[in-house]
Amino acid sequence: MLELRPTCENCNKPLPPDSLEARICSYECTFCASCVDHILDNVCPNCGGGFVPRPVRPSRNWKDGNCLGKDPAGTRVRHRPVDPDTHARFAAGIRSIPPEKR
Ligand SMILES: [Zn+2]
Ligand SMILES: [Zn+2]
Repeated sequence: MLELRPTCENCNKPLPPDSLEARICSYECTFCASCVDHILDNVCPNCGGGFVPRPVRPSRNWKDGNCLGKDPAGTRVRHRPVDPDTHARFAAGIRSIPPEKR
């Protein structure tokens, strides 16, 4: 189950469970859309993979209790800002390879 991490790892902007700005990689590294688009160039600084929008977990119990009431969002902040120049070099190397071969 997704942890629903509470903030952007780079800029520490709050990303509550209903945020439409939260982006995650396959390891659930979590960033805001602005950092993904303008700083990370859609390359995760931790694993080199890409990002997708994080789904919103329902706040209401639509079915079988599967909602934030039973499975609340994570609270552990992971604020590890990237160095823009270092990341730009890392991302350029990865982006030079076709997506299906990364
Ligand atoms: Zn951010
Ligand atoms: Zn990652």
